[in-house]
Amino acid sequence: MPVMLETRALRSAYGRIEVLHGIDLVVREGETVALVGANGAGKTTLMRALAGVQPVCGGEAWFRGRALARVPAWRRVGLGLAHVPEGRQIFCDLTVEDNLRLGAWATDRTHVAEGLAEAYQMFPVLGEKRRLPAGGLSGGQQQMLALARALMARPVCLLLDEPSMGLAPALIDEIFDVIAGLARRGLTVVLVEQNAAVALSVADRAYVLENGVITLEGAASDLVKDDRVRAAYLGI
Ligand code: ATP
Repeated sequence: MPVMLETRALRSAYGRIEVLHGIDLVVREGETVALVGANGAGKTTLMRALAGVQPVCGGEAWFRGRALARVPAWRRVGLGLAHVPEGRQIFCDLTVEDNLRLGAWATDRTHVAEGLAEAYQMFPVLGEKRRLPAGGLSGGQQQMLALARALMARPVCLLLDEPSMGLAPALIDEIFDVIAGLARRGLTVVLVEQNAAVALSVADRAYVLENGVITLEGAASDLVKDDRVRAAYLGI
């Protein structure tokens, strides 16, 4: 499959403190790729750098062959690269539906009605609450909204940061069923997930990030059997 997203020697820093020390990543069309690693390893920073909301200080990144260095975040969304940030970042004072509409802001807006219908079909509870302020939604419903909002841009690649954070197990299953369904329909997914077992169960491939460097990569089915991964991330 052709490469969809690629980084070479990508570096990023907060002030003078470099936290990504040269990341080489390849994500092919239609793959689900997980980034696994301990707290503070740099997973969120990498996702934010790919989305264009975190400055990079070295290396390069490409999306569908196009260099991303000078492409602002909103334009990346228009190119088909959508980001579901850690902590959801929904607009609490706006209605559920207005949050969804904002997801389509940077793209061709002729598909808004169709996108809303799809969102409400995927998550009926969002349809029921579409006229209510998003701040009143439960944590799980807010995660659904964040995901549905990103899908309003009709992305070909989704950067999904910690979709299970703070959710009850039943809701984690529900969110991951939706993610698996999107992947089956051909969406490319880059997934950051604290719960490595869940991440490796849905991913085709994974990268292990430690202190801002990639220490291991491979098929998810191989990494699940790797002793280092089992000891460090799967608690086995
Ligand atoms: P987590 O699962 O806890 O979010 P992570 O793997 O996503 O961890 P990052 O959030 O990317 O890791 O953090 C990588 C490093 O950058 C950590 O050492 C963290 O303390 C530091 N860092 C993150 N955000 C900032 C910030 N806004 N300012 C300064 N340092 C930061």
